[in-house]
Amino acid sequence: MENTAFIALGSNIGNRYDNITSAIKLLTSHSNIKLVNYSSIYETDPVGYEDQDLFLNMVIEIQTVLSAMELLDFCLKTELDLGRKRKIRWGPRTIDIDILTFNQENIETEKLTVPHPRMAERAFVMVPLIEINPNHRIPGVDKPLNLLLNELPDKEGVRIWKRKNGEDVFEPIEN
Ligand code: ATP
Ligand code: CA
Ligand code: CA
Repeated sequence: MENTAFIALGSNIGNRYDNITSAIKLLTSHSNIKLVNYSSIYETDPVGYEDQDLFLNMVIEIQTVLSAMELLDFCLKTELDLGRKRKIRWGPRTIDIDILTFNQENIETEKLTVPHPRMAERAFVMVPLIEINPNHRIPGVDKPLNLLLNELPDKEGVRIWKRKNGEDVFEPIEN
């Protein structure tokens, strides 16, 4: 599995925990996708379009032999399998699955932009990403991620909801 991708998951409709864990199970049920790491789950204030319920967000790291485009198609298919309907931009959703980075590649096609163009300005992405890989390099971003996070205005809107390690043990997947 030669490619490493970081993927962001988010949900603010229905049983948000089930939606997120089901997405991880569906993604990693693919024989060519292997889960290598995952963050805690955070509850976050909506950003962009604020008149909606709180989100749960997390980040996972996977390894895959799929191309970035094949991975995107499988992510979009998984969203549909979990009942996502596209309505308002940045509006409520049962599940959102975004590819943050794919190796250290820069990809710019009509359907796919990697690194995700808005990731570095979103505390709900940076907090779980820093948790699992504090030294992660985002192509085109020179600053260390913790310095970048310090400058973000919405970081108070990101609160731990279910810890990966600790009392509230969360195991999304049995290996
Ligand atoms: P945002 O991209 O700002 O997080 P969003 O996640 O709400 O917004 P969606 O409606 O889920 O946006 O996605 C719209 C399209 O974005 C998808 O159909 C997909 O083709 C495209 N897209 C481009 N780059 C990526 C990426 N890195 N990860 C996921 N989708 C992407
Ligand atoms: Ca998104
Ligand atoms: Ca998306």
